[in-house]
Amino acid sequence: SGWFGNVEQAPKDPILGVTEAYLADDNPEKINLGVGAYRDDLSKPVVLNVVRAAEEKVMGKLFMEYLPIGGLKSFTEKSVKLAYGDSAQCIQDARVAAVQSLSGTGSCRLFAEFMHRYMPGAAVYIPKPTWANHHNIFRDAQVEQKGFRYYKPDTRGLDFEGLMDDLQAADEGSVVLLHACAHNPTGVDPTPEQWQQLSKLMLKKHLYPFFDMAYQGFASGDCDRDGQAIRIFLDDGHNLGCSQSYAKNMGLYGQRIGCLSLVCADKAEASAVESQIKAIARAMYSNPPVHGALLVDNILGTPEIKQQWYDEVKGMAERIIDMRTLLQQNLEKSGSSLPWKHVTEQIGMFCFSGISPEQVDLLAKEHSIYMTRNGRISMAGVTSRNVDRLAAALHKVTS
Ligand code: PMP
Repeated sequence: SGWFGNVEQAPKDPILGVTEAYLADDNPEKINLGVGAYRDDLSKPVVLNVVRAAEEKVMGKLFMEYLPIGGLKSFTEKSVKLAYGDSAQCIQDARVAAVQSLSGTGSCRLFAEFMHRYMPGAAVYIPKPTWANHHNIFRDAQVEQKGFRYYKPDTRGLDFEGLMDDLQAADEGSVVLLHACAHNPTGVDPTPEQWQQLSKLMLKKHLYPFFDMAYQGFASGDCDRDGQAIRIFLDDGHNLGCSQSYAKNMGLYGQRIGCLSLVCADKAEASAVESQIKAIARAMYSNPPVHGALLVDNILGTPEIKQQWYDEVKGMAERIIDMRTLLQQNLEKSGSSLPWKHVTEQIGMFCFSGISPEQVDLLAKEHSIYMTRNGRISMAGVTSRNVDRLAAALHKVTS
């Protein structure tokens, strides 16, 4: 027998498993609503024009050297400004520790490891539900996980009371993981007033805010507006943490480009914290990949190009918003007596449809329409060509 006869097959990833089932289906009308990657109205992946242009510029100076452990400094500086706002006080005070990361997953993983080392015994409070991989990430870093109420199935909206009650009862000194905008999988975000209340409560309870920002620009179409939760917390004086990803908003999925930043009390603390995050990165992967960092640095570094990028993000967000409207209209036209208002009320890339796992299975089996079993529809997979068929199938399996 081999060395690894005792190794059992790992369970399939719930999201990537959907893609496999979709690929194995030979119905030409099949629809993939599983993975959260943007598609255009012809269901094609998109490379942004600003990315194409940046590639041309970067190509001339082929650069294959190692980046430093913390990545490309000019990239992390611009990235932090994008998240916190150009004029954020903490940036002016030079008290932000920041490193380039392997996209959003990588920055969450680095933070989880940092937490394990430097916040010993602290638990992370995670919204119920959340992106499934959050649970894997904190498990692997041996950080204790607790949940807080977030979503209310009755209203398909935010359970704000439940959220506030659970965090009121949370242990002081804990970390609270918040989706900065476009919550995955529910598409439900707090209002600015609710963020303000939450911020005040977390200050009072001495809870550490860690923002996972994987969709800046995708919620409202406006990157600055999508940063408002973070800015509310900064204005209140929180020293927060933030994970950024350029997978969705720049369409750089496979480039694995993101940023982890932690706001510190002062410059000396930021320097120490950054050095320890780098020590973690050094042993995990030594240093991050170069190409995506050059692209983002290029795009964020020129005001006109940055504006073009804002416009392109807005275009993607708007196509999704249009599909929400069409889907809701088609469901209402189909004669469904169920409420479908949440389809347009929820925001970002996903619609938490409210259908049961059994209904999800029926959609796959009888209609070749694929989504995760929690009923999450990736709106990026909806197009003006397939929205009628999707609405009809949804009506069929729910009536
Ligand atoms: N956080 C959330 C909430 C996400 O939805 C995602 C992407 N599905 C990520 C982080 C990380 O994605 P990536 O590692 O591709 O940036």
